[in-house]
Amino acid sequence: MSQLAARYKEVQDRISAAATLSGRQASDVELIVITKTHPTLVVAELADLGHRSFGENKDQEARPKAMELDVLRPGINFDWHFVGQLQSNKVKSAMIYAKTIHSLDRPSLLKEIAKQLASSQAQIDCYIELNLTQDLNRGGLDPSMIRQFAESALEVPGLRVLGVMAVAGLDVDPRADFETAVRISHELREIVPEAKALSIGMSADYEVAIELGATHVRIGSAITGPRGNN
Ligand SMILES: *Cc1c(COP(=O)(O)O)cnc(C)c1O
Repeated sequence: MSQLAARYKEVQDRISAAATLSGRQASDVELIVITKTHPTLVVAELADLGHRSFGENKDQEARPKAMELDVLRPGINFDWHFVGQLQSNKVKSAMIYAKTIHSLDRPSLLKEIAKQLASSQAQIDCYIELNLTQDLNRGGLDPSMIRQFAESALEVPGLRVLGVMAVAGLDVDPRADFETAVRISHELREIVPEAKALSIGMSADYEVAIELGATHVRIGSAITGPRGNN
């Protein structure tokens, strides 16, 4: 077994174990492998192991990768997730390959997505990303704005709000941040009852996230190995 296959299996096993420990099923938690900065062949190898859900955080990297994979592995229906801060001028491009955007976090982005949906009759699934830190430079919506923002998202035809996404702050206990995400997720569900998904948990904290109810974990380096700067 390759190193990549071994790490992939180990993470899958740990996801199952964490789910079981919390009285949940492994199938309640979807693994999205974040492949940013890693070559297309890493995605191809994981696809050969049966994996389909992948995430990237930069359109200029993601789009050519997705296009290359359609050539390298024809017939495979890749499920691409866009997880990074999304500039409005990249929305049109991202919507070509991504079925899901995890970083819907501001009115200007919502407006641009609405515009693209109106002109293309397409559909897109989104998570509302929360900023759980005091750092305004990080992506994410101020959690106190969730209801108002969810109401405006509900008015966009073709856009489905799946739930909330959050990244735990650096140097803090992820548990406290994930508890906040869960609380905001309940607020969101008062506006959008079906928006039950919770995209929380990365390589360093996915087991805690699963304990607190993550339905989607976004895991990069624990599977792909370390990456250079990004
Ligand atoms: C890079 C990234 C991840 C994965 O990070 P790891 O620590 O490598 O698992 C998850 N979510 C987002 C938004 C990312 O940018």
